[in-house]
Amino acid sequence: SNPCVKSANILKELEEKCATPASKLRQIADAMTVEMHAGLASEGGSKLKMLITYVDNLPTGDEEGVFYALDLGGTNFRVLRVQLSGKSVIEYKEFAEVSIPPHLMVGTPDALFDYIAAELAKFIADESEKFHLPPGRQRELGFTFSFPVLQLSIDSGTLIRWTKGFSINDMIGKDVVAELTKAMDRQGVDMRVSALVNDTVGTLAGGKYDNKDVAIAVILGTGSNAAYVERAQAIPKWHGPHPKSGEMVINMEWGNFKSSHLPLTEYDNTLDVESLNPGEQIFEKMIAGMYLGELLRRVLYRMAEEAALFGDTVPPKLKTQFILRTPEMSAMHHDTSPDLKVVGEKLKDILGIPDTPLSTRKTVVEICNIIATRGARLAAAGILGILKKTGRESFRDGEIPNTVIAMDGGLYEHYIEYRNCLENTLNELVGENFAKHIKLILSNDGSGIGAALLAASHSQYI
Ligand code: ADP
Ligand code: MG
Repeated sequence: SNPCVKSANILKELEEKCATPASKLRQIADAMTVEMHAGLASEGGSKLKMLITYVDNLPTGDEEGVFYALDLGGTNFRVLRVQLSGKSVIEYKEFAEVSIPPHLMVGTPDALFDYIAAELAKFIADESEKFHLPPGRQRELGFTFSFPVLQLSIDSGTLIRWTKGFSINDMIGKDVVAELTKAMDRQGVDMRVSALVNDTVGTLAGGKYDNKDVAIAVILGTGSNAAYVERAQAIPKWHGPHPKSGEMVINMEWGNFKSSHLPLTEYDNTLDVESLNPGEQIFEKMIAGMYLGELLRRVLYRMAEEAALFGDTVPPKLKTQFILRTPEMSAMHHDTSPDLKVVGEKLKDILGIPDTPLSTRKTVVEICNIIATRGARLAAAGILGILKKTGRESFRDGEIPNTVIAMDGGLYEHYIEYRNCLENTLNELVGENFAKHIKLILSNDGSGIGAALLAASHSQYI
């Protein structure tokens, strides 16, 4: 049959399977709300872990002193130092960013933590005199560790499982703070981990420091997750002392959300089966940065094979998993040149496909659009689920509450089409009146700063 017709059919099928009309998104939001209740009711009650974070107070703005943060959770890790002088003022901040060598993501706990502790040692060795603490006072660190952790206290917690391409089996069930502390000892770093936080929780804390209406945080980076402020009374599985604030931050681990309403395709299914964590993180695999480019590759591969999209043979590089990264996909999606020059260049540079005709380039952009639109709209549905659970999508005492959602992650920050689609979809879902009271803010590096703020409020010296 005619290859053009064939590729048009595959495209049409993709579009239909990925469709996310508002009615479907509402079903997904409702399913999210149901799972939130179930996860809060009992440990293991839902695919949503709804983890208790032991953060029952968010920063007030009065925090003072020099604190450190270490942010590990994806492709890069960051070390950060902030000087807080009260009144919500961050006097000084400095950070270093280091990429994690891929072999360390699948090696041993000691190798990973030694590498991190060694970077921390360098960061401290380079710092100026003015950061030297008074004798006898230990440096304090907020550790942002963005994987599912069962916390035992604000400064301890055991790893439940890895996500996002990490796989170090010996770590499962171990206390991540103890592992980091041992590595710091080995590397001669004298520092105490005062707070162990997920990046969503750090972002929530960092966001709240700037804006008191922040109640939800969402990460869209390599992976995806959300945290929010819950009423302690609405957490049946919490048997600890009732927090004075009456509140507790919940780390949803929403990446592991799954529902029969999700518009899954054959591409999602094979991506999942061939992943390091099959059957897990299904929502994350549809919406987050690690996977969008890979979904694009899988669609292109099928079109190359069945519809000769790139000529008689399948370009060999197109067979390599994860060769097409989301920043590349984003660059192609945003190509506004009349001949789609950027698309042509990317296909040539990344996949070794020279001289693609304009019609092929247009098809590629359409696929980018379908995949990114589905991801962004699903993320909006997830947020709607939280708004519903917390009653922020209905009147309170005759008024609409103001809700600010702190957003962080490279995907949200850089993929403008995705970001715009997410915002538009959320507005569409909540309606005009409520949309005026719901604001998304980019909380750049909020997770690191938030972790330092939580280290300050849980300092051993106060
Ligand atoms: P992490 O999630 O690993 O902590 P980031 O928040 O910096 O780190 O997010 C990095 C991820 O964001 C990348 O893995 C990639 O998927 C996505 N990303 C980065 N830059 C872009 C871009 N220009 N366009 C689209 N996605 C991007
Ligand atoms: Mg991050």
